[in-house]
Amino acid sequence: MSHFFPLWEEVSPLFRIKDMDKRFRFNKKYYLCSNCKRVFHSHEDLLFVEDNVARGFCTEACIEQFFRPQVKLYEAIEVEIREKLSIKEEITLKFLESPQYLEKLLKSPKEIWAIENDFNEKIYSLIAPFKDKSGKIFYLASLCLFYQGKPSFIFLVTATSYLPFLDEFRIGERVNLRENESLLKAPEYLKDTDIANLVEHKKSFLLSEILRTRSNRDIPIFDFPNYEQFLKNTVEGPDEVYAFKDDLGDKFITYIKSYQEEKNIFYYFVICLTVSSASKSVKEQIVPVIYFPSKDGKIYQMFTRGNLIMGSLKS
Ligand SMILES: [Zn+2]
Repeated sequence: MSHFFPLWEEVSPLFRIKDMDKRFRFNKKYYLCSNCKRVFHSHEDLLFVEDNVARGFCTEACIEQFFRPQVKLYEAIEVEIREKLSIKEEITLKFLESPQYLEKLLKSPKEIWAIENDFNEKIYSLIAPFKDKSGKIFYLASLCLFYQGKPSFIFLVTATSYLPFLDEFRIGERVNLRENESLLKAPEYLKDTDIANLVEHKKSFLLSEILRTRSNRDIPIFDFPNYEQFLKNTVEGPDEVYAFKDDLGDKFITYIKSYQEEKNIFYYFVICLTVSSASKSVKEQIVPVIYFPSKDGKIYQMFTRGNLIMGSLKS
């Protein structure tokens, strides 16, 4: 088949599996990852980090790679301004080492500013004041992108107690926090259709990660359905359970159990997403995103990430 479509070689394995029986036609909608140019049929297979810019990415790694030059640009500007103000080695910078300040800045900034270029690309600036142990005030400031009311990609974060430097972060126009309260709070509860979309999205992402990592000698993908009988047992009596957050802050729970069937020894993985639900009776839902068997140590390593919440670490 592949000699008919040289493009097959270039498209992602993910795409190949989903669209194995489909052929390329001109009269179809195509979406390319803005970074690596992998081809998709649905925009739902792509990740977005901006609201009004039609720029989608196939993986978090592609997002990172695409924006890296812009990260470098802002970093260089910071160095230049700090040099000019003679505050290159500010002691306040040590507060960047404690993640709680950044978390607070992203969740409840005191000021939000935004500047938009002629291509509708909008950069946000967040500012929040903090007090150190002696009661001295310092600030954290960040330049980032927003998607659906939340910071989605961070270009730069810094700490300073020098007001002229802080002033440099008051970019473009100030965003009225009261008018934009939903900006940071949305969307708290998800409708069922949203959950389905989110799960699909996460599934594509995890699947592409798994395909990139697994060895060719691992259990073939077409064989996965034959292992689905292990799903229930794995969730009900796992050997290990891990909780982790992805780069977008969504919470996952991984159930792992090892099995031995005659000479066939393998792990079964069930990766679930924790979502807030619109229903009043159930606040949080745990939805299976992807479940599969594997004999591959690299896959085991990949999913024993995050916090171990049950079970023992294998030596
Ligand atoms: Zn890509």
